[in-house]
Amino acid sequence: MIGPVSVDDPEVGIQKLLERHAEFCRRRNMEISRYHLNCVTKQESPFHGDCSPSHAEAFMKLSSWGYRLWKEQFKQSNHYESRACSSGVCKIYRISASSDGCLVLPTERCNCETRMSFNIQCRHEIFFHQCFIASLWHRQWY
Ligand SMILES: [Zn+2]
Repeated sequence: MIGPVSVDDPEVGIQKLLERHAEFCRRRNMEISRYHLNCVTKQESPFHGDCSPSHAEAFMKLSSWGYRLWKEQFKQSNHYESRACSSGVCKIYRISASSDGCLVLPTERCNCETRMSFNIQCRHEIFFHQCFIASLWHRQWY
């Protein structure tokens, strides 16, 4: 509230008003994105033949951009294999690649570039867990 009955300074009131407005716009844009995606999916299956619970859960929980990242990372995870697994620690390699793989531990996050840049469940973590885990996605992707 701004004006003589306001308990805050006008600058603080305006700042709070702008923050509230930005939050409303963000939520509205998310709703529009979800509505758009729901409309698109009524015409075509978003799962491209794969109706696994992970795809459905990712679709329901992530924003359209997050879901696109999930699909790409999931697709890439099919090209990986693990070697030298012991006591819950896995080294994950791209199939038929000679470069060093990523070390994935059950209690720590992968340190690959994709995971660090986007703060998402990367292809290595998808391969390791074999499912969608919502808590591995930063809230910006919801
Ligand atoms: Zn990774």
